[in-house]
Amino acid sequence: MPDKGFGVQVPVRTRRKGFSMAQPRSDEGQLSEYIVNVPDYPQPGIIFKDITPLLANGDALRRSIASLAQSFQSSKTDRIAGIEARGFILGAAVAAEIGVGFIPLRKPGKSPRDVHSVRYQLEYGFDELQVHKDLIETDMNIGLIDDVLATGGTAVAAIDLIQKGGGIVTGFGCLLELGFLAGRSKIQSTYPGLPIHALVQQ
Ligand code: AMP
Repeated sequence: MPDKGFGVQVPVRTRRKGFSMAQPRSDEGQLSEYIVNVPDYPQPGIIFKDITPLLANGDALRRSIASLAQSFQSSKTDRIAGIEARGFILGAAVAAEIGVGFIPLRKPGKSPRDVHSVRYQLEYGFDELQVHKDLIETDMNIGLIDDVLATGGTAVAAIDLIQKGGGIVTGFGCLLELGFLAGRSKIQSTYPGLPIHALVQQ
């Protein structure tokens, strides 16, 4: 039975209740070993991918940041943008590793000054991302970071938002890609050729 993103209801009848994570044997464990499956969170039928054990392990965090930073090395990158909220943690660290500034892409009601906004459709209802207008300059090269790529709707909205501000998205990086939700295809059908770098595929 596949894992699932927030957007799709999949029965989990065969899944045992409770957390599941292979215990990392050492700091050299695979990054996937630090991502915990939390069944039926935040609602029944969803397998939440908890990345906090990865964040809490110094070696796994360092390797993740280094690998994400490396994925932007072949392109000129003026800024890294991160999607609220876990994309902030990773994105700011990647920006510092590359030596560029960080741009937070926020949920509505969190940005007190002039913003660009993009509303996007979820399976049920809508969500929105906003960015302070003065953080993005015309033709600024911006790398985008989030924690999980599921259906791809959030990433496409984030790219739309950056473009609305005049920026150019140089690539999308994430810790985990849930392949069966086809987020990669969604991004690539909207933005053909955009580099996508996922550290773990499930
Ligand atoms: P999507 O727009 O479907 O690609 O969803 C990606 C966004 O939702 C990311 O910001 C993730 O943090 C979050 N997300 C989606 N599915 C999950 C999941 N199964 N576990 C943890 N976060 C998820």
